[in-house]
Amino acid sequence: MIKYNLFCKNCKNTFDSWFSSSKEYAKLKRHNHINCHECGSLDVEKSLMAPSIISSKVKKAESLKNNKYIKVKNKIKEYQNFVKQNFHYVGDNFAYEARSIHYDNKKNEKGIYGSASKKDIEELKEEGIQTEVIPWIRENDS
Ligand SMILES: [Zn+2]
Repeated sequence: MIKYNLFCKNCKNTFDSWFSSSKEYAKLKRHNHINCHECGSLDVEKSLMAPSIISSKVKKAESLKNNKYIKVKNKIKEYQNFVKQNFHYVGDNFAYEARSIHYDNKKNEKGIYGSASKKDIEELKEEGIQTEVIPWIRENDS
């Protein structure tokens, strides 16, 4: 869909109209199917301020935003890979494993990572076990 800002030469009215494509607009125009919403005159033209330029700007801004998002996402993934390589994954047992390291002085060459609830983290903190909450992207997240 494409939106054109149309201008009536007869009554100076401007109005927006949607077309499936610029080709469709040209075809309708050629067959005199485009008329002014106000006075019905066929003397209607596309306004000089072509909305296609505006929408392409919007698109650019959006893709710029996406780029930033992708960059941040890649950073998180890099960090994620670092954690995966240097920490031992304990899944949902995080709180339990964190306690056993803390209380049993369990020798662990690697640190651990896993999922913990907010409550778990608060409880660990109260017990003097410092944890780090990190952003995590699941593989199937787009
Ligand atoms: Zn008109």
